[in-house]
Amino acid sequence: MSIFTKIISGEIPSYKVAENEKFYAFLDINPNAKGHTLVVPKEEVNKLFDLDEELYNELMSFSRKIAIAIEKAVPCKRIGLSVIGLEVPHVHVHLIPLQAMEDIQFIKKVTLQPEEFEAIAKAIADNL
Ligand code: 5GP
Repeated sequence: MSIFTKIISGEIPSYKVAENEKFYAFLDINPNAKGHTLVVPKEEVNKLFDLDEELYNELMSFSRKIAIAIEKAVPCKRIGLSVIGLEVPHVHVHLIPLQAMEDIQFIKKVTLQPEEFEAIAKAIADNL
């Protein structure tokens, strides 16, 4: 069972942004930038392009809605999207508020306090 399946079930806590029948969106615990969000299909599939085509399209559509809400909630130039998965073998879309190219490079990380995570998750959810 992946760590994200445990997050979706509530076994591991997360700063939830949104959820529906098929997807779960929450803040990345080690963010590149404030507002860095992960969107995960509840079905545990390892690689993005192994997803059933319909679920893939729904994942992108759900991610788009979340990205639009992040852009309203977090000051940034735009929202970047990345799919990597080298660390957690359960499909997840990274949505990252960008100010500079380095924000999408997974090199520089920001440290946030629990209250900040809670406030950002709420601000994004409020803009959905
Ligand atoms: P990737 O698999 O795309 O290389 O990276 C996995 C991402 O998941 C990383 O950005 C990492 O910070 C995030 N991550 C890993 N474990 C947890 C966790 O337990 N909770 C949260 N919220 N994010 C996690």
